[in-house]
This record gives sequence, C-alpha cells and structure tokens, in this order.
Amino acid sequence: MSILVFYSEFDSFEQWSALLAPNLPGVTLCRAEEVQNDDEVHFALVWKPPHGFFAPYRNLKLLINLGAGVDSLVGRDDLPDIPIVRLSDPHMARMMASFVLFAVLRYVRDIPAFERAQRERRWHYLHPRSPETVRVGVLGLGELGAHTALELARQGLDVRGWSRSQKNIDGITCSSGIDALDAFLAGSDILVVMLPLTPQTQGLLSAERLARLPHGCAFINVSRGAIVDQVALTQALQRGQIAEATLDVFDREPLPPEDALWGMENVLITPHLASVAIPASAAPQVAANIQRAARGEAVLHQVFPQQGY
Ligand code: NDP
Repeated sequence: MSILVFYSEFDSFEQWSALLAPNLPGVTLCRAEEVQNDDEVHFALVWKPPHGFFAPYRNLKLLINLGAGVDSLVGRDDLPDIPIVRLSDPHMARMMASFVLFAVLRYVRDIPAFERAQRERRWHYLHPRSPETVRVGVLGLGELGAHTALELARQGLDVRGWSRSQKNIDGITCSSGIDALDAFLAGSDILVVMLPLTPQTQGLLSAERLARLPHGCAFINVSRGAIVDQVALTQALQRGQIAEATLDVFDREPLPPEDALWGMENVLITPHLASVAIPASAAPQVAANIQRAARGEAVLHQVFPQQGY
C-alpha cells in the first residue's frame, strides 16, 4: 500500500486526484489530514506546504513540487533527503511564452503610447519599427526561458539570452556567466526576467545593474520579484530611465495597496499568473515520475536544493 499525500492552497485536490488515480493503480491519493498511516506515505505532491509538513512521513521516496519555481521549497530546513522534482509541462511553457509575447509586442508596437493618446482623444502616429531592430534580452534560458526566447525570435526580433552555463540555441544570441551580464543588460531594449530565485540571483538586478540598461528601455519580470531591487526599479521608472514595465511578480505579494507602482502610468501590473500548472497536461508526467520512483528508477525533472533550482 502506497499513499500520495497532496498539499496546496491553490490547486484542486479533486481535479488532480481524478487525473492521477487512473494512472496510479495501487497508490491512494489523499490530503494530509486524511492519512491514516503515515508510514504508508511514499510520495508527496505539494505547493508551499507548512513548515514541518514532511516530518511524519519517514518512508517518503519522492517529493513533487506542484509548479516550476522551487524557491519556496528548496531553501527550507525541513526537507527530507530524497529526490525532488518539479513540473515540466509544455503547456505551462506555452502559457508563459504567450504572456511574454503579449508584453514584449505591446512595447514593440508602441501600444502604451496609443493607450495614452486615446485617453486624450489624440491621433498619435508613430511609424512602426522593424522587429529586427529591437533587441530583446531574456535572462534565464531554462524550460520556460528558452521556449519563450524562441517564440520571440519567430516574431523577427533580435533575441539574446543569458544563462549560467553557455547555451547554443538556433536564432538566439547566447551568453553566460556573471562577467557577461553588464554587456547583456546594455544591449537589451526590452529585458525579460525569467531566472529562478536562488541565493545567486536574489537582488541580482541591483540599482547599479538596472542603470546598465539603455535609457528608455522596457522591463518585464515574470519570474520572482526578489531578483530585482524593487525600490531602484520604481525610481528608474519614475525617472524614465526605464520607460515601461510589465510586472507579474513582486518582492511582497500581494503588492501592498500603498505601493507607488500601482499608480504609475508606465507600469502594467498583473497578479502573479503569467503561467500556471495545468493539471490535465502535467498529470501524466507526475504519474510517470511516481511510477519510476516506485520501481526504484531515476526520476525526471529533478531539482537540486544546493543549486537552488
Ligand atoms: P529552469 O530552472 O528550467 O531554468 C532556469 C534558467 O536560469 C536556466 O537557464 C539557468 O541556467 C538560469 N540560471 C539560474 N541561475 C542562474 C545564475 N545564477 N546566473 C545565470 N543564469 C542562471 O526554470 P524555468 O525556465 O522553468 O522557470 C524560470 C522561473 O520562472 C521559475 O524558477 C519561476 O520562478 C518562474 N515562474 C513564474 C511563473 C509566473 O506565473 N510568474 C510561473 C512559472 C514559473 P542554466 O541553464 O545554465 O542552468
């Protein structure tokens, strides 16, 4: 008898359970409060479980993070020493790419300027730019970042990408490592932040680094707020050094009502939903990983707590 214990305040147990059960014969799915014998819990499917959640489950074999970002999980001091995997879902990557595509093209096609002109009933002709003249820098070329970079390149934009290890992606100018970051920022008319939050990326985009961006650039953050110095970002937007921003993530969420960002005309705020886990497409890989772990095989999409992602 094996139990898969589920915890999330955001995701539907009923939906996940209906999708997983047919693929997991011999495994019972239940919420933590329904577990009768803790020793039978071999698998956990969780999003932000409370501290101490794993302690009763001495026979856990696999921990599945119910999302792509693992920053809320890997930094904690109560993790069991077992493999941890994340969701790696093509639909999630597509949803993220479509959000970023929307945000980038909105700037490429000067839509905020037309929105402002319309409010003033003003016919404001701006000749469209050729996409290849717009340099879009994507920070982070992981599952979501690389897919998004390719979608942006399909629009004819001049796409550059930056990561920890050097990548070679057709149609994307790739660079890597901290020494290349300042030049990368200086060459980004539109910067898209798609890095995981780790001890190395926390505060990476400091006031000094934001100042490297070209004057009048656009800034898009869809990964984690704490990667950016939010006060410095706000000031750069107030000065116009950064002309526009689309922000889906913040150093404090929900963004407090008194935050200056809410009132800024050049900022588009969305409440952390650029992409979400889609149970119907992610469930088969969750089930496959549980079956692998049950057979004692290596799991897929493993994350490494010491690396932070
Ligand atoms: P991955 O773990 O697949 O990729 C991370 C990328 O960032 C890799 O290219 C990695 O480099 C690079 N990277 C990590 N650390 C550094 C560093 N110190 N310096 C330079 N590059 C670094 O992540 P995903 O693409 O799947 O997701 C990215 C983030 O998006 C998630 O961590 C999550 O925070 C966020 N997210 C946000 C959502 C939203 O709704 N707003 C929804 C889902 C995710 P390398 O390739 O060399 O390892």
